[in-house]
Amino acid sequence: TMDLGSWIARRAAIGPHRQALTFDGATLTFGEFADRVDRLAAALVAGGVTPGDRVAYLGPNHPMFLTALFASARAGATFVPLNFRLTGSELAYILNDCGAHTLIADAALTGTVDAVAGELSVSRKVVVTAADGWEPAEEIIAGSAPIAEPAHPAADELAVIMYTSGTTGRPKGAMLTHGNLFWNNVNALLCLDVEAGDITYCAAPLFHIGGLNVTTLLTLQKGGHVVLSAAFDPVQALADIETHRITTMFGVPAMYLFMSQVPQYETADLSSLRYLVCGGAPVPEPLMRRYAERGLAFAQGYGLTETAPLALVMGLDESAAKIGAAGNKVLPLSDVRLVDATNTVVPKGSPGEICVRGPQVMVGYWQNPGATAAVIDDEGWFHTGDVGREDDDGYIYVVDRVKDMVISGGENVYPAEVESVLYSHPAVAEIAIIGLPDAKWGEAVTAVIATAAGQTVTLEELREFAADQLARYKLPLRLEFVDALPRNPSGKVLKYQLREQYTTAVP
Ligand code: AMP
Ligand code: MG
Repeated sequence: TMDLGSWIARRAAIGPHRQALTFDGATLTFGEFADRVDRLAAALVAGGVTPGDRVAYLGPNHPMFLTALFASARAGATFVPLNFRLTGSELAYILNDCGAHTLIADAALTGTVDAVAGELSVSRKVVVTAADGWEPAEEIIAGSAPIAEPAHPAADELAVIMYTSGTTGRPKGAMLTHGNLFWNNVNALLCLDVEAGDITYCAAPLFHIGGLNVTTLLTLQKGGHVVLSAAFDPVQALADIETHRITTMFGVPAMYLFMSQVPQYETADLSSLRYLVCGGAPVPEPLMRRYAERGLAFAQGYGLTETAPLALVMGLDESAAKIGAAGNKVLPLSDVRLVDATNTVVPKGSPGEICVRGPQVMVGYWQNPGATAAVIDDEGWFHTGDVGREDDDGYIYVVDRVKDMVISGGENVYPAEVESVLYSHPAVAEIAIIGLPDAKWGEAVTAVIATAAGQTVTLEELREFAADQLARYKLPLRLEFVDALPRNPSGKVLKYQLREQYTTAVP
């Protein structure tokens, strides 16, 4: 069967003594891991979770995240991972929107949720993890017998609801089924060389689909070993690669860039690595050359939360040959096409919106048929909002974003959301949030404002003003002043023009 819970149970049955998961110096075998999953599943059921209920998880990377993910599946529930960088009110919105039955929260983060307890409809909060180790989880897990009759959700039942911000500001819950996650991984496995002997490193956040599904779940599914890190730190990552003899890892370009910039990069033993997996943005040529010096090549992927995530892939040779591309449009199990505003396929070489169709495409947005209909057309094509151009060999280059989203340090920042908060600052008459190239973050969230008559404001003041309502990574890093924002005849701000005006060459 395809259900998530079975992946882990079957792996444990095949090789119970193989190493599955390492965190903070402690390692679980598949047998131990599956046992913990089944105990937590029983505890969830005992706590009132019934099939179809939502179980939310709030916390940085920790084995408990994956235990809770699989346990939710074994209980027949749907797992809702939360971005722990969100503020209390942002979290409350998501918890209420998905109607979470149970929230499993890291002890270090319960304050954020408690602060908005009055706004929350979640019926039960379980604190199972602490920032510093495994211990607090033991009570629940040890106090419960493994689930006697695990659920086996069908391929079309919901495994995960992953929230992704939209142009209209409010995050939407992308509904990913057990089949979506399964088929994404089969698709990936047919393109990437993932082995049972792999030891994969994950320091990317598990609450994003890239960190979760691309290498972490795929490696576990294959019977490989995952080394998890609570957070990404370039020096720590290099040390972990050496200590654990890491063979593959997943990261966004910014992570690989930071690793290559610390002095330890020169001396670290990277000989265990077979290749690097990168997604979220293309690997720039200088970065590719930097790793080629160490004998390392990149496998690259393009995708979205809504496509679980792979939509375009490039292997090692293709990555080197097609610098700047997002990947080949043909995957073994899914298709990509570029269309114009009338949903007609554009001639080769012309820009068009990237559309994806295949078994990894989400079934829709949670309780939001309008938003679903806006992105999935009658023929099942998912419209990504990204504009691409296809070269003669079928490789797609992402040239723009329909939605003007900013990607800073691997996090999506939606201008509309930031703008709506900052508009209420008394000094702001007009505001546009744009992304400008930034050597460190990929893009820097930039506020372009026209001030109200007689008013001034500093970057620090704006950041402070929004700090309670917006996660830190969404706050502007740069501030530019204009007399008036450039607008087209219908009044829409010409962000493209602003980006051009302020873009200086990336160092
Ligand atoms: P998310 O909503 O977090 O899943 O982010 C998805 C977005 O990331 C896509 O719509 C693209 O704009 C961007 N993206 C992901 N991978 C790539 C890539 N390889 N090249 C360019 N853009 C990418
Ligand atoms: Mg998104």
